[in-house]
Amino acid sequence: MRRSLPLALLLLASPLALAAGKPTTLAPADLATAAQLREQALRDDTAWDFTAGLTTEVGARLAGSENDLKAREWVIAKFKALGFDKVWSEPVTYPKWVRRSEHGAIVAPFPQPLALTALGNSPGTPAGGLAAEVVGFATLDALKAADPATLRGKIAYVGPRMHPSQDGHDYGIGSSVRVRGPAIASQKGAVGFLLRSAGTDDDRLPHTGVTHFDPGVTPIPAAALSNPDADQLERVLKAGQPVTVRLALDCGIEGEYTGANVIAELKGSRKPDEYFVMGGHLDSWDLGTGAVDDATGIGIAVGAARLIAQLPQRPARSIRVVAFANEESGLYGGKAYAAAHAKEIGKAVLGSESDLGADRIYQMTASVKPEARDAVAQIAEVLKPLGIAYDASAPGQGGSDLSAVHAVGMAGLSLHQDATRYFAWHHTANDTLDKVDPEQLRQNVAAYAVVAYLAAQAKGDFGSAPGAFAKDKGE
Ligand SMILES: [Zn+2]
Repeated sequence: MRRSLPLALLLLASPLALAAGKPTTLAPADLATAAQLREQALRDDTAWDFTAGLTTEVGARLAGSENDLKAREWVIAKFKALGFDKVWSEPVTYPKWVRRSEHGAIVAPFPQPLALTALGNSPGTPAGGLAAEVVGFATLDALKAADPATLRGKIAYVGPRMHPSQDGHDYGIGSSVRVRGPAIASQKGAVGFLLRSAGTDDDRLPHTGVTHFDPGVTPIPAAALSNPDADQLERVLKAGQPVTVRLALDCGIEGEYTGANVIAELKGSRKPDEYFVMGGHLDSWDLGTGAVDDATGIGIAVGAARLIAQLPQRPARSIRVVAFANEESGLYGGKAYAAAHAKEIGKAVLGSESDLGADRIYQMTASVKPEARDAVAQIAEVLKPLGIAYDASAPGQGGSDLSAVHAVGMAGLSLHQDATRYFAWHHTANDTLDKVDPEQLRQNVAAYAVVAYLAAQAKGDFGSAPGAFAKDKGE
């Protein structure tokens, strides 16, 4: 009793708090329409056509490259042709990194070339290359524990191997070596950095990806070896003689570039200011054609939105598809979107983004207000025939780019793809269209169409509010 008065005052003072108490509901007719969309999606190839078109007509889309602009022009034209009600761009500025050439070789004791690729943000080596002795570490922790005296003037190599799994959990290990290893090695006096690619394959194709140097840390040339080359280097190191490697990387940051997030919207019929958001990132690494990472992500959203656009009436809320700029070098597009839309975060009722390829979705998780859990469980029922399980205990930030929007308060729902195959091709020359399975892609579209439609039609919200999910960690 004693607490009831302050609580009542608090509720009066805050319309968001008032709304938060109401359960979110879905009408039986809407659940039936969602089931119908699901079945249509399993026969629809819009997502495939989009993915094939982008990867064929534009190809690789390194952020800041000539193809960055080409890709934006391509996607703007495609969005318009597909009949979205509104298409626009929002600027995103970031450092522009370029790759010109890259070579590596063991020069002693057993001279031979190495298949490697520079990491995004890596500086180039001095003209003529850089030759130094290699010091090998099994893990990032071993590098962290190393005495700087053993690393001064040397090239550090870190080599944990990733194994495939449905949830791709080993990528956490591989990506942390790539993102943080070079800076740690630099701080200990190393002049170069090599890692075993963050990938699960045995192809002689290295996996690129971003690395990060904080201000004050001297950037050092950093490259990834293909898995067979990492095995080879480890065998040579085990032979016990000093191992010298020569690196010749011509790459680096060249000023700033302003690209853009490209956004398409189906205008809601009753609450056009409120919206469900989905999408993927438009940029890709330069080695492949960016098919599974992440042309399919945008393709899935486009395929789902197009089916909803063909209904006799627009849903109550708007549906937004975002093709995010420069995800690969540090979520620049997602962060710019979050900054531009933080003030109206309550209008973004729910978001879900695909950035883990397009193999079968096997699980759904969500970060929503407690009063929306029943509605999410109803969505899960419509997804069940697609073989998607609902784990109500785990968070769902929405996806890589949307994790930044989620961090400022948007409710998120994650549709988890089977990542067993994904990390064999991710960030390599092998990320090409043939890796996309049209049937599994359609299953993805079906799931996104269901979620997008029901989020746009739901009575009540999912809990988006400033700081609502501050405790959720990004994916
Ligand atoms: Zn990606």
